[in-house]
Amino acid sequence: KDEQKNDFIRNIIRDDVNAQKYQQIVTRFPPEPNGYLHLGHVKSICLNFGVAKEFGGICHLRYDDTNPTAEKQDYIDNIKNDVQWLGFDWAGEALHASSYFDQLYVWAVQLIEQGDAYVDLQTPEQIKENRGSFNEAGKPSPQRDASVADNSALFEDMKNGKYADGTAVLRAKIDMTDANMNMRDPIIYRVMHQEHHQTGDKWCIYPMYDFAHPLSDALEGITHSLCTLEFEDHRPFYDWIVNKIGFEQPPHQYEFSRLNVDHTLTSKRKLKQLVDEAIVDGWDDPRMPTVAGMRRRGYTPEGLRDFCDRVGVSKADGVTDMRLLEFSIRQSLDNTTARGMAVLKPLKVTITNFSDAVSQWEMLKADSVNARFDAEAQTLWLTQPNHPNIDMGEREIPFTETLYIDKGDYEIEPPAGYKRLSPEKPEIRLRNTYVLAVTEHITDDSGNVVELKATIDPTTLGQNPEGRKVKGVIHWVSASQGIPATVRLYEPLFSVEDPSNVSDVHQALNPNSLTELNAVVEPSLVNADAGTRFQFEREGYFISDSEEHSSDQPVFNQIVSLRDSYKP
Ligand code: ATP
Ligand code: MG
Ligand code: MG
Repeated sequence: KDEQKNDFIRNIIRDDVNAQKYQQIVTRFPPEPNGYLHLGHVKSICLNFGVAKEFGGICHLRYDDTNPTAEKQDYIDNIKNDVQWLGFDWAGEALHASSYFDQLYVWAVQLIEQGDAYVDLQTPEQIKENRGSFNEAGKPSPQRDASVADNSALFEDMKNGKYADGTAVLRAKIDMTDANMNMRDPIIYRVMHQEHHQTGDKWCIYPMYDFAHPLSDALEGITHSLCTLEFEDHRPFYDWIVNKIGFEQPPHQYEFSRLNVDHTLTSKRKLKQLVDEAIVDGWDDPRMPTVAGMRRRGYTPEGLRDFCDRVGVSKADGVTDMRLLEFSIRQSLDNTTARGMAVLKPLKVTITNFSDAVSQWEMLKADSVNARFDAEAQTLWLTQPNHPNIDMGEREIPFTETLYIDKGDYEIEPPAGYKRLSPEKPEIRLRNTYVLAVTEHITDDSGNVVELKATIDPTTLGQNPEGRKVKGVIHWVSASQGIPATVRLYEPLFSVEDPSNVSDVHQALNPNSLTELNAVVEPSLVNADAGTRFQFEREGYFISDSEEHSSDQPVFNQIVSLRDSYKP
């Protein structure tokens, strides 16, 4: 399957491999540890680690940690965990751009000595003002032509803490008239009296991303530096800097389009806002498009990788249909999840002929039925496979006098085409057991059905009823032996298609993104460990919540619905 991927990046790499341009392909995934990874990062991870694997190369995990203000150890730890969970591993130790600070400083000094960099003492406002605009050339800084000796001394002073934040920067000396604003003497170092999570208080100057990134790539022997399209304009500087420092085999940057998915956000900053304002329940809220959220939601690494394969890699900007993601996730679950019955909106059913009917079960059952009757508990235990694939084992389902079925499976006045129970169509098969016939419905004062009375046909345990066809099968759970469970249903977090375009994120929120139901589930579902996925028959795929589930207080999150008309 991997051989068939031939997006433009893989084609470039394939050509380079065929031309034996490099000893080995080396890529990197370079997250800034200022938040949790999200769906957009998954694309970058699948691409960078994916091509390394396909072409016999290696991929580094490098923290792009040059801006200590927003970075935290917690983020660092989670990123590692997320990458591994997605099924990838980096070569050697995880790397930090911050561990190159000494080398980067040496290279900055080299630039100064070459006459390619200068210290600018203008205020940030002046620097911005004098940068010009795309139809107006920039004005050179008064410091632009200072001597190498002066600049070296000033830069050393910067390093030694003689300047306050925002009072001095080091700039590359390129061209203040370049049509590309990134080439108008970009800032490569700034003063920041701020402790760093890796280097402590060693530094009070920090390199800018545009300086640190290409040089980190070069230092690590990265061959193909893959990034998103918004960095296309930064490539001239990327090439300029690796050329000025003088690498024999400099890395090259290639840009691909970002992943955007409708009704969701792929921006750490905006996702952080949702966390900070407690709009969601943390970074791993199952509604979040973070890897942590998607993991807790029950999405699978296989499904996420399949999704990235289907999205592909190109330079075309676009918005991917959320249903493609759901398709990939659903597809990854079908063959791997045990089945079970869960009633999400319970409606009580009392079987008025239970004892009579069930007392004859052994005589009247079909040969295919495997069961045992516990007379004391008045429970018929039905043995059923967990999955059509019998290798996945069996479980016992208790069938008792009182059951729950779903409220939605009985309608006094059914809409046209309704196939479940109603006064006009009182018979239906209960999944894995008998055919049931409703004899009476009981309503409350407002006319809502609150209970059904019914009978079962004793001759229908595992066989068709005689003389009539009964259409439809519904799921059910024993009322006396079933287990109450919290079941969480999800809708997209945002009700607008492109929440990134809304100035106030609150305006874009979907008030129905979370619904909590008091469900009842068959006993086999609750003893599983937290983080176990199931298919609840007729309802969808669910996972026992990794944080809150216990067999005493079961909690299940909806992963995805059973089907969707969408075809990729
Ligand atoms: P954010 O805006 O969410 O902070 P970022 O690009 O600043 O994203 P980084 O931690 O710097 O976040 O990203 C690490 C890598 O992931 C980068 O190479 C970046 O290009 C890539 N990446 C981030 N978002 C996306 C996306 N939506 N699609 C594809 N790649 C992405
Ligand atoms: Mg970034
Ligand atoms: Mg960012």
